[in-house]
Amino acid sequence: MEEIIVNLHMHTRYSDGGGSHHDIADAALKCGLDAVIVTDHNVLVQGFEGYYKNGNRKVLMLVGQEIHDQDRDPQKNHLLVFGAGQDLATLADDPQTLLNAVKDAGGLSFIAHPNDPAAPAFNETDISWVDWSVSNYTGIELWNALSEFKTVIPTKLHGLFHAYFPALIARSPIPNTLRKWDELLANERVVGIGGSDSHAIRYHLGPLNKIIFPYDFHFRTVNTHVFIPNALSGNVETDKRMIYDALAAGHCFVGYDLSAQTRGFRFTAQGRETAAVMGDEIPARGGVTLQAHLPFMAEIRLIKDGQVIQSAKKAPALTHITTEPGVYRVEAYRKFLGRRRGWIFSNPIYVR
Ligand SMILES: [Zn+2]
Ligand SMILES: [Zn+2]
Repeated sequence: MEEIIVNLHMHTRYSDGGGSHHDIADAALKCGLDAVIVTDHNVLVQGFEGYYKNGNRKVLMLVGQEIHDQDRDPQKNHLLVFGAGQDLATLADDPQTLLNAVKDAGGLSFIAHPNDPAAPAFNETDISWVDWSVSNYTGIELWNALSEFKTVIPTKLHGLFHAYFPALIARSPIPNTLRKWDELLANERVVGIGGSDSHAIRYHLGPLNKIIFPYDFHFRTVNTHVFIPNALSGNVETDKRMIYDALAAGHCFVGYDLSAQTRGFRFTAQGRETAAVMGDEIPARGGVTLQAHLPFMAEIRLIKDGQVIQSAKKAPALTHITTEPGVYRVEAYRKFLGRRRGWIFSNPIYVR
């Protein structure tokens, strides 16, 4: 399997972003990403999918959309849609109808920023997901870099500070989102992804006039690392299918690459007859050996059905042998800029 680094969930001037698709491609090339997925609000922008090159570097740009009901009051329920091949924004007023349509169209759907708190100092309201009775979605956006920003700006001064020191923002996925994920995983497969929600907005506040969190900042922070069966071929349709299939299967993890590169993380299972990677199921019968490897020493935790069952403060790897069915996932934390911060969040291996 090949590991590629994907940054997803971002906005251009086609909705409320400050940059263009070409700005995104330039930033992605600069940051060494393999692919980006652009998701403007309620519009499926045509004409920008493809490979963008600079010297011998290339990046694949894919285009999905972020859909929500613009007439709903209060505003809630943002959904990321990839690979549906058609604009489904007209179905936004009923989340279940929308989710069913995405599935019927062969697309993927991820509940965006499940917990997204209000930031009254900036007139930003709470736009969490509230319609949890829905089914038929692929997964949730476990870590959204912008929702997290809203948790650290009780005043305009805090906003100003973080505009200049954005590296101090990211701590981990919002704890309620992690809890919600474990709760959902008890009953169904739910893929976790990480999104930047990058807008590259020019902001004026007193003497401040700057682009807040430019694309090339976000592209070095919360990424989704995806495992595809073969190296990217250069053919847009083939590579797009490969990436979307891997995301749908949960063959991915969320990495906070700013504190240290997360490339090289692995979480696998070896059973009596079969092997599994993140997102896969494996039979418990005969015993299963779960193994996680980190690219650097870090605090590592193995979680089964929402409970930490094994941990180490500083280790390069973790091994656990079990015959117990359950949903197993891995988290890693590192100290960075004076604080313990989330570093790696794997998708689960489902031992059945
Ligand atoms: Zn949103
Ligand atoms: Zn967004």
